[in-house]
Amino acid sequence: MEEQVATSFIPLSENQVFLLSLQIEHMEHQYSSTLLERAVGEFAKLPGIGRKTALRLVLHMLRRPVGEAEAFAEAVSTLCREVKYCKVCHNISDSDVCEICAQPSRDSSMVCVVETVRDVIAVENTALYRGLYHVLGGVISPMDGVGPADLEIDSLVQRVASGEVKEVIFALSPTMEGDTTNFYIYRKLESTGVKMSVLSRGISVGDELEYADEATLGRSLVNRMPFTGKTF
Ligand SMILES: [Zn+2]
Repeated sequence: MEEQVATSFIPLSENQVFLLSLQIEHMEHQYSSTLLERAVGEFAKLPGIGRKTALRLVLHMLRRPVGEAEAFAEAVSTLCREVKYCKVCHNISDSDVCEICAQPSRDSSMVCVVETVRDVIAVENTALYRGLYHVLGGVISPMDGVGPADLEIDSLVQRVASGEVKEVIFALSPTMEGDTTNFYIYRKLESTGVKMSVLSRGISVGDELEYADEATLGRSLVNRMPFTGKTF
């Protein structure tokens, strides 16, 4: 096994990597290898990754056993090919119904409405919430061409109409788009009589939910307040 690894890649020394990066930077993207150019180009498509960071990551992978890069590529492509979304809450799942929705110990009378799967993870990390979720897939944002029909709002209304949900907690980012979405859903659910609440604003206005520290997010959830349709 070790022999296979030894023949499948040639490790570069620190010095070689440094010289290679200098050489590449001065070439202004005229990389010495089209293979390198292609790999850097793919990494640079990721959010928050510029070409310099992409180059650093690619050179790092070059210095690792080739099996690591294969495992990396395989994990990402398998995820993208086989991922499922929970038919109840639209969270990422391995099966039709996600692990959270399937847990009998969760309180199914409470539904926490979030923008993305990352927000489910953020709320779960507080360990203060035992209800279920509803992942909208974003927020209403006319500037970005996102309307209510692009989000999982109808399925939320149906969940509430089924009668089991007693409280809907709005846990969207405290931005104009988040407030607009809260209000839109509030109007849709108003006639059902379901209790609606919104996270207290321990989180700074304009902050994105996933970047809030766990203590702040947890406190905001515990101190949630009734949502009256007003944005304070
Ligand atoms: Zn689910």
